[in-house]
Formats: sequence, structure tokens, C-alpha cells
Amino acid sequence: VSGSSGAGRAIVVGAGVGGLAVARVLIDAGMDVRVVERARRVEPVGAGVALWPNAVHVLRSLGLGEVVDDAAVPKGEQGLRRADGRPLSSMDAHAIEERYGAPLALIHRSTLHRAMLDVVMSERIVTGREVVAATEAGEGIASVRMDDGEELSAELVVGADGLWSSVRQAVLGVAEPRPSGIAAYRGVAAWERPFRSGEYWGSRDVAGLVPIDGGRAYWFRTRREPPNAAPISDEQLVRELAGWAPELGEVVAATPRGAILHHHLFDRPPAKTLIRGRIVLLGDAAHPMLPFIGQGACQALEDASVLGAELAEAGDIPSALQRYDRRRRARTAPLIRTARMLARATHPQTSSTARLRDAVVARLPDRMRHRQLDSILAAPER
Ligand SMILES: Cc1cc2nc3c(=O)[nH]c(=O)nc-3n(C[C@H](O)[C@H](O)[C@H](O)COP(=O)(O)OP(=O)(O)OC[C@H]3O[C@@H](n4cnc5c(N)ncnc54)[C@H](O)[C@@H]3O)c2cc1C
Repeated sequence: VSGSSGAGRAIVVGAGVGGLAVARVLIDAGMDVRVVERARRVEPVGAGVALWPNAVHVLRSLGLGEVVDDAAVPKGEQGLRRADGRPLSSMDAHAIEERYGAPLALIHRSTLHRAMLDVVMSERIVTGREVVAATEAGEGIASVRMDDGEELSAELVVGADGLWSSVRQAVLGVAEPRPSGIAAYRGVAAWERPFRSGEYWGSRDVAGLVPIDGGRAYWFRTRREPPNAAPISDEQLVRELAGWAPELGEVVAATPRGAILHHHLFDRPPAKTLIRGRIVLLGDAAHPMLPFIGQGACQALEDASVLGAELAEAGDIPSALQRYDRRRRARTAPLIRTARMLARATHPQTSSTARLRDAVVARLPDRMRHRQLDSILAAPER
């Protein structure tokens, strides 16, 4: 890796999970790193996040293994439930840790973010600045333009600016993300009483309830909604959970008013490339996927780790980017499709389809469930 200052300069656009992880990796590679973040304060939007073993491995390699110690690591039987709470298909959390060498860690996004900020020195992060465009400046340089017209140049520009990425336009042109017709409501409540943890499959949509760090419970609930629909009220959200396991409605009702998040869910079809010259895309800017396999943030972490490994191995930035592009598209394209398929399966059009689905899922042999989980959690051979 060559450049004007040691290993070269890098600009990372976006200080989300992906941006902070790649900043750490590039600092470790000896690069002079600047992170540009649009928000005035680096604060994560979100409630809980599931970090599967593939992400836990990356966090450990970044020196963030302690985050997992703080997280709630489910013990015993987990898995899918029917809406009323009866098990549909179970998964042993201990077996996951044995099989993949790391646990499934459930954590508040702000706990994760704070830990990640600590490993990227704050003077490297410029906040309250929006990148409006990225361009290849030629001669081994790329640049970004800010909303006030200022330009910054570097040997490497990483677009980690999320679903509505501006940097992506420099790589792939203008294209809107794909609305799914499904919206998610999410929240966190202080919760001490025991509850049945897992994902609940209803006849039209899904809900989830899991423990996270700090004695709290993280819940989510999806609904079919048009992309620009206003959120339903907190009361209606609780009302619509009548008939589901009672703890779901109780935890939603215990969530502080005004703290429930509402987002339409989008993804994009797999991209034909993630690089252009010295510009590279990572995380949701590269391969946004629907959250039904809980892999968006996990894949952003994998991206950062692979980029670091390829920079360390290749003699120059362009060859490292070529290899990153090939590996990350191969890894994420099937995940985008699996997440989309699960979105359809979990939001059936009729209740008879839902009954048929449940019958199939309940009878799925362990061997097939393992195979599916392997394809999500185990990175493919290089
Ligand atoms: C309902 C829901 C549940 C989810 N659950 C999980 C889960 O359990 N497990 C999991 O792994 N993933 C989950 N995900 C996916 C996960 O949230 C995302 O994949 C992940 O946050 C992507 O990280 P990122 O760093 O790429 O992007 P982001 O987190 O979106 O960060 C992008 C950053 O860039 C900044 N930015 C944007 N534009 C600009 C600009 N022009 N200039 C400067 N800065 C800019 C933003 O302010 C932001 O800080 C879920 C998503 C949803 C919607």
C-alpha cells in the first residue's frame, strides 16, 4: 500500500458500525484516516442489534471482544415461535457457540457504538459535515465534496454512508433503494420479569423479543405498509398484538413514549461492482439487505475485516480493492436474496399460506436448518 503519508490517506464517509470498523482497520494498516459524518453527534439510530458469531469474530479481532461480554448471550433454547408463544422450531444457543466458535450476542446499538468510538480516536472524526459527491480524481487519488463546497482528497475513499449513500452514486450511478412494503417498529424497555425470547411468526407478519445488555428487552414488530405511511400510534401497536404472547404487548406498552422507532424496510438488488478506482463501498452503502436474517451490521463488520486483510496482503490499493469487490459480492448477494425470501415467508398474503409455512418449518430436519445457518454464518472459502 503506497501513498503520500506512510501507507496513504483514507477518507471514510459515515460513522455507523461499518464506518467505525473500517476506520479502525485502516488505522491499523498504517493509513492516515479521516471519518466524515453528517450528524452533529455520532449517535446510533436504533434499538437492539443481534450480532451473530461471524460479527463477534470480527469484533474480537478489532479488540472489541469485551462488547460481547456486556451483551446478553442467550442461554438454552431459542428460536422461532408461533404468535401465541408456542415453539415452532428451536435452536440451542450453546450449540451455536460450539459450532461457530463464538456466541450470538444481543446488545443495544448505543453500547456497541460507544465501544467502537473508543477504538477510533475522536480527533479523526469530523461531525456535522455531509459528503454530497465522491469523484475519482485520477493519478491514484479520489476525492469527496462536502455540502459547503470543500474538497478532500485521499488515496482511498470508503463509502460507509448507509442505505441512501451519496458515495454509491459515484460507483453505480443514481438508483433508489427498493421498498419492501414492510415497515418495522422497534423499541427497548427496562424489563426484569422472565419472558419467552425469540422471533414470533404471526399469520401476516412477525415480532421479536430478546434480552439485551443492562437488564433490558429489545422488541420489534413488522407490518405491511406503503413506503411513506405514517407510523401507527403506540396504543394501536399494542392493540394489534392482542392474541399474541402477552409479554409482547406488555414490553411494547412499557417502552418510553416517543422512543419507538419506525422505518420502512428497503434493500437493493446485488450490485455489479462495489468499487470504482480508489472509491469503495461498504455496509448498507454497498449491499443493504432486509433485516430478516439479522445480518446487515454483521456484514458491514465482515466488509471491514476483509478490506483490512486484502490491504495487508496486496502490494497496492487497486489490487486489494479488486479482491475485496469479488469476495464481498460473492458473500453478500445470496444473503440479500435469502433475506428477501424470508421477508416473503414471514409476511404471507393469506393465513392458509402461513399455516402451511408453519407446518413445513416445524418439520424441517436439523440437518437442513444447520445447512441454512451455515450458509449465513460461515464465510465462504477464499
Ligand atoms: C429494523 C432493523 C433491524 C435490524 N437488525 C439488525 C440485526 O439484528 N443485526 C444486524 O447485523 N443488522 C441489523 N440491521 C441492519 C443494520 O442496522 C445495518 O445493516 C447497519 O446499521 C449498516 O451499517 P452502516 O455503517 O453500513 O450504515 P449506517 O448504520 O446507516 O451508518 C451510516 C452513517 O453514515 C452517515 N451518513 C449518511 N450519509 C452521509 C453523507 N452523505 N455524508 C456523511 N455522512 C453520512 C449517517 O449519518 C450514519 O451515521 C437492522 C436494520 C433494521 C432496519
